Order: sequence, then structure tokens, then C-alpha cells
Amino acid sequence: MPNQEHDASPATIKVLRPKLPTSAELLPYLERIDSSRTYSNYGPLNGEFARRLGDLVGGSHTTLTSNGTTAIELALRLRCDQGGHCLMPAFTFIASAHAVCNAGLTPYLLETDPDSLALTPEIATAALNSVPGPVAAVLVVSAFGAPPDFAAWADFEARHGIPVVFDAAAALTSLSGIGQQPVCVSLHATKTLGIGEGGAIFCADRTLMDRATAMTGFGFVGQERLSSLRAGNYRISEYSAAVGLAGLDGLPMRLEEMRELTAAYASRLEGKAVQLQRGVGIDWVTMTLNVIVPAADVAATLGRLDDAKVEWRRWWGLGCHKHPAFKDVPMSDLSVTDALAPRVIGLPFHADLSPGDLDRVTGCLQ
Ligand SMILES: *Cc1c(COP(=O)(O)O)cnc(C)c1O
Repeated sequence: MPNQEHDASPATIKVLRPKLPTSAELLPYLERIDSSRTYSNYGPLNGEFARRLGDLVGGSHTTLTSNGTTAIELALRLRCDQGGHCLMPAFTFIASAHAVCNAGLTPYLLETDPDSLALTPEIATAALNSVPGPVAAVLVVSAFGAPPDFAAWADFEARHGIPVVFDAAAALTSLSGIGQQPVCVSLHATKTLGIGEGGAIFCADRTLMDRATAMTGFGFVGQERLSSLRAGNYRISEYSAAVGLAGLDGLPMRLEEMRELTAAYASRLEGKAVQLQRGVGIDWVTMTLNVIVPAADVAATLGRLDDAKVEWRRWWGLGCHKHPAFKDVPMSDLSVTDALAPRVIGLPFHADLSPGDLDRVTGCLQ
């Protein structure tokens, strides 16, 4: 008869266990909502949360949005006066492609640099002549939270006159030096600073950001209830902002946890063939950890993880072009992506992992 206590097989190690602020941590902020009786429409908690987020990324103007996907959609709408193609990497979370289409643009899928796992200005420049129509924008994606090269892309924009927008969904705690190109982050429960559902746009261009904020609320500018921009409702409520403020209070501790866990993995992976992303644990950390497995060892590695009851995930799957909804969009040759994407494996990464758990995970890696 199966008996839990005498069952020798270990419990599954989960790949992710999100942890948002507790009810006790939320309470002081919820009480402020009780007093203000403002529940949405850019209330006091929204204002404070936006200011503190802007400070976190080095002093940027900030627009809060309903999620990361709508942040990207709005930023693209703001920066593109007319339709056309949007250059973007095929290797990204599928949300990027949805946002591009929702902004009225056609994705043109490009390769990723195997070193940085990101689109580079060189790849985009080389593609310009093969795009079948006008190029309206480039959507640059931060590789699983790695800081994008803002300067190189500002230079690309100046050189080619093509607006650049950043999908830095997982990079909230890696951002500095934000310039004129909008930077979009996600505040989804699974991201570094989770509030459930939410997002933000950062940008040094004050005028653009005033328009971004207006676009989150029916295009109303100033106090007048006159819609001056084609927009929508992309706001978050004061309750979401409360979760964000409580989350920011705990963020320094959470960052320390992520640094320690990344270091604990890095020391166990020394001398192995699997590789971590460039700079992770040194220059930046995020809420996931990926290893890049040698091509010849992918199937065996996944087999060992499964046998050891270690959950793993390809956070970005095998590329946007592998999703039925996007299989018909125009794309460049994607042989680098097809070889790279299967090798990028997300490992368990959360505060509940014991040293023994980490040994069990890394014991499956060569
Ligand atoms: C999470 C994520 C998104 C989408 O963010 P949501 O808040 O879930 O809409 C977009 N792009 C990338 C790269 C992501 O990781």
C-alpha cells in the first residue's frame, strides 16, 4: 500500500515558486486606500509606486501599465506613426510577438547572437535590405533579464532613423542609463517584482511619457475629460500599487536572495560544460536561472533532470516561429535560433531550495 512517509522517492523540485508580499506586509498600504477612498485613476499609491520604480532604475519617468505585454504595445504605438514591419528576435517570450501585432505592426523575426542571447544592432542592420516593406520599429528583448545595450541601440536609431523599443520584461533590477528609447518591464507574479499583473514603461523623454500615461487612461490629457489621443484603459488599480509598494519594501532582501542563489549555482557548475548567461550573478540577477547545455548533451540532460524529479522549463520555448499563431509571419533564416533555443534550459530558482536540492539539480548537469 502506498505510504507517503515510507516512500523513499524524493519530492519534485519545482522550477519556480513565486512569493509576493504577505497580507501583513500589505495591510498598511490597504489602510491608506481605506482612507483615501481612491481606488484607481492615478491615485496616491499609483503615484508613489511609479516614483519609487523610476528611482529604482536610476531616475526615469515612469508609466504604469496593466501588464508587460500592454507596456510594449503602448510603447510601440507611441513611437510608430505608421504601420510596417517591426524587427524582433524570434527567440523571446511569445508575448513580444503578440504586442507587436496588437500595435498594428508585422513582426519580422530575426536571429539572436549566441553569446548574449539577444538581438544585436549588427543583426538588425544586416537584415534591413531583406525586409519586404518599410521597417517601422525594432523591438529589442533583454535576454531573460540581462541588461540591454542601450547605447548601442540609441546609436542604431540615430543612424537609421528607425525607432527602438525595449522589451526588458525581466530586467527591472538590471536597468541603468535609460535614454530616449522606451524600456518596458513586466510586474507579473513570476517576475522579479511581482504584483500579480502589471507592467511599466521607463523613458527619459518627458513628453513621450506624458503621452504614454495619457494613453493608459482613454487619452485624457490634464483635467479635461477630452480624449486627445487614440488610447485605451491600461491602468492598474490602487490595490495593485499597494502590492507593488510592499514588494519594493522587500526588494533589497529579495535581490540578496537571488544573488546568493545564483552564486550557489555558479560554484556548483564550475568545471562543467554547461554555461550560465554572460554576467549573471556578477553584473545582474533575475528571478530565473538558465543554463546553456552543449547541443550533444541536451536530450541526456533533460532525461537526468526528469529522472531526478527536477522540474525544468524552456522559458521562451523554441522561438516565436514555432507557435501556430506566428508561423506565417515574415522571418529571416533562423538556423542559429533553431540550434540555440533547445539548449537554453531554465533550472529551479526560488527561495525554498536547500543546498541538497541544489546538489540534486546540478548533479544532473555535465
Ligand atoms: C514576462 C514577459 C513578457 C510579458 O509580460 P506580462 O506582464 O506577462 O504581460 C514579455 N516579454 C518577455 C521577454 C517576458 O519575459
